[in-house]
Amino acid sequence: MLAAGSVTAVQAQRPATLDVTTARIMQRLGALAADSMEGRRAGTPGSVRARAYLVAELTAMGAKPIGSSFVVPVTLRARAGSDTAGANIVARIPGKHSSGPVLVLSAHYDHLGVRNGEVFNGADDDASGCVALLTIAERLLREPPEHDVILAFFDAEESGMVGSKAFVNAPPVPLDRIAMNINLDMVARQDGKALWVSGTSHSPGLKPIADAAAKTSSVPIRFGHDTKDLKPGDDWTGSSDHAAFHNKGIPFLYLGVEDHVDYHKPGDDADRVDPAFYRGTVEFAYALVRSADATLASVARAKP
Ligand SMILES: [Zn+2]
Repeated sequence: MLAAGSVTAVQAQRPATLDVTTARIMQRLGALAADSMEGRRAGTPGSVRARAYLVAELTAMGAKPIGSSFVVPVTLRARAGSDTAGANIVARIPGKHSSGPVLVLSAHYDHLGVRNGEVFNGADDDASGCVALLTIAERLLREPPEHDVILAFFDAEESGMVGSKAFVNAPPVPLDRIAMNINLDMVARQDGKALWVSGTSHSPGLKPIADAAAKTSSVPIRFGHDTKDLKPGDDWTGSSDHAAFHNKGIPFLYLGVEDHVDYHKPGDDADRVDPAFYRGTVEFAYALVRSADATLASVARAKP
């Protein structure tokens, strides 16, 4: 566990030391995890603002929706203080071979909202995954992947993974074309000093893909949290949106950090993120997407 004093030191030296790419990542993280987003709870005005932010970023970089709009409506369960109109944000980065297998890269943009007057900003959970997706998308647009990459920013993960379940139940391409899912949920906090890759126990064929990406990683990469022998809560197979894909027989790799002191607390703020660590996890995720894209045809053939 990093001492509070260390975090302060990181913050104090930040403005002078950030390179352009890291500064952009941190600026986006600050925007999506700002108080004005009111914790992005599904079905609230703050969620609609977060949605508008993501659509504006995707539009500005030249990404395209799959149908007529990035916004794909999702019906939420009725809850106090929220609307039932949710939405996933879905975009497609065209690959050089657009008829074959597809990779779905996902993160969830909703969080817990406002409770007792306190905004739960969810910088790590999961603004961090969304900003990683935006960063990766920009690079894929500049240097197209071999295969189509679908970006899915899910709504309502925090209220029963409603967005990802809706996605796999009404997928934008036939499910059998989705070769795998890479899901990012909580990739910014350095407290555990490592990024976990989960899912290879279910799909051992994906391990070499992650190993290849790990070779160049500046942050330690660990494998696990995906077996039934672990104590309750430590098997992450069902703990985020990759579960929806797993339940449809689609292999997944999930990237995330261990729970930390600010997990599901109002202190999950952007200024508690170590920019160097977070930049490192974004770079690993990007390398992983490239590695998966390069071998996606064989991943698709190995699918059950
Ligand atoms: Zn989350």
